Amino acid sequence: MAQSIRSWWLDDVLGREPAAPEPLRGDLRTDVCIVGGGFTGLWTALQIKQQAPSVDVTIVEKDICGGGASGRNGGFCMTWMSKATGVLPLAGGQEGVRLLRAAEDGVKAIGEFCRTHAIDADFRLDGWLWTATSAAQLDAWRSTVEVLDRHGLHPFEELSPREVQRRSGSRAHRAGVFEAGVATLHPAKLARGLARVAAQQGVRIHESTAMRALQRTPRPGVRTEHGTIRAETVVLALNAWAHELADFRRSILPIAPDAIITEPVPDLLESMGYRDGLAVSDSRLQVDYYRTTLDGRITLGKGGGMIPFAGRVGTRFDTPSPRTQEVQARLVALYPQLRDVPLAAAWRGPAARTGNGLPCFGRLADCAQIVYGHGYNGNGVGPSYTAARILASLALDLDDEWSNTPLVRRGTPGAFLPPEPVRWLGGQLVRAAVERKTGIEDSGGTPDRITARIASLAPGGLTPVSPASAGP
Ligand SMILES: Cc1cc2nc3c(=O)[nH]c(=O)nc-3n(C[C@H](O)[C@H](O)[C@H](O)COP(=O)(O)OP(=O)(O)OC[C@H]3O[C@@H](n4cnc5c(N)ncnc54)[C@H](O)[C@@H]3O)c2cc1C
Repeated sequence: MAQSIRSWWLDDVLGREPAAPEPLRGDLRTDVCIVGGGFTGLWTALQIKQQAPSVDVTIVEKDICGGGASGRNGGFCMTWMSKATGVLPLAGGQEGVRLLRAAEDGVKAIGEFCRTHAIDADFRLDGWLWTATSAAQLDAWRSTVEVLDRHGLHPFEELSPREVQRRSGSRAHRAGVFEAGVATLHPAKLARGLARVAAQQGVRIHESTAMRALQRTPRPGVRTEHGTIRAETVVLALNAWAHELADFRRSILPIAPDAIITEPVPDLLESMGYRDGLAVSDSRLQVDYYRTTLDGRITLGKGGGMIPFAGRVGTRFDTPSPRTQEVQARLVALYPQLRDVPLAAAWRGPAARTGNGLPCFGRLADCAQIVYGHGYNGNGVGPSYTAARILASLALDLDDEWSNTPLVRRGTPGAFLPPEPVRWLGGQLVRAAVERKTGIEDSGGTPDRITARIASLAPGGLTPVSPASAGP
């Protein structure tokens, strides 16, 4: 098995591409400088070009476009419906419904964009099963379904346990709901495809070019190793690396989910009844999520993982996965038939959690011409399309529904993490409690009150942990 520092997805596409270009050398002037060439940066560049073709857009990316989470994720292209208990109270009824519908439309728009621009990203709109694999997880979706119902939205279909097991091919699932509007895709093919289309549309892309310093002047600047880029507006599309800036040290928690992928087993998947691009995940906080690939592999990711000390993100996510056996054990627990199937690769990557489980957008307090967007809490593949609408409106200084949506913070991002070293130590404690609680619940038990209380301090994952706390 390959222990990939990138991901199986990236290794799959990079073999067909020329090596990364030389870094940018010298100074540059541009209208909008986007730092970070993942889905957020790329969709924002494309959105700006669509709305204002004459605006000059430059992306600087320290690695290659898609080298971060965007080329390493599970390829679940989800809506925001599972986050309704956070989105609706935060945004308010009408605006919340608009955002949820926009994110739902965004998934379809991604598929459409791929078709229009010949991006062969294996896009399959086959839906998502949100399931329970232990008694403790039963009905985890109930409050979400109810709040959506109250707002006239009915994206989830309740299935019988037998039907959940039939569609997923796994008897481990005890119950579940199905959302038809979710797709799966090949994330690295999408990221590299978006970079190609962005370049064709005139976006200047400089890979191997890291931002070394941010100049917070009225006309902001991005200093790289070999020069400075001056812009009217800078967009920070940095995902977990935003944590390296003091502005976000206490508002996002970088974590490192791990993932595995098997060798192709199309006949076995067929015999299990798992035939399409259905996405499946359970309801634990350190969620297990998995799907098949077009060539008959199964890939499973696991939430959680390493928490860096004092904002030192750097290359800490660019290591082989240290949890391969643990993640594979989850796959075998779900599908005992896969016990002897060899893994093709294992990897990990950066993700960012926020206090309310929702992404946040805004302008830096000391420089309004620097805008940011991050904190997808493990659900950024689909929502980054909608995020780009928000970031494009902020970057173009538009006064519209996107720049005024309540997901855009006013002032300094809300701090939910304590300072170091309490933050790191507390993080270890909470993570251990989450793991202990999950283990007890998996074996049918009930965790003690202290474990449950400490585990409840974990920030939101797939769904916001505490709907009541959803606020800026
Ligand atoms: C293992 C894993 C599985 C996941 N599975 C799913 C899933 O199935 N579905 C889903 O919706 N979400 C999933 N996610 C989350 C999803 O991948 C992210 O939310 C999404 O890709 C975020 O896109 P982004 O562009 O904001 O971040 P990224 O793709 O991480 O882009 C940020 C970019 O900034 C660059 N950068 C950082 N610092 C600098 C600097 N100083 N100068 C220049 N460039 C810099 C990085 O190299 C990186 O390319 C997963 C994440 C991981 C790690």
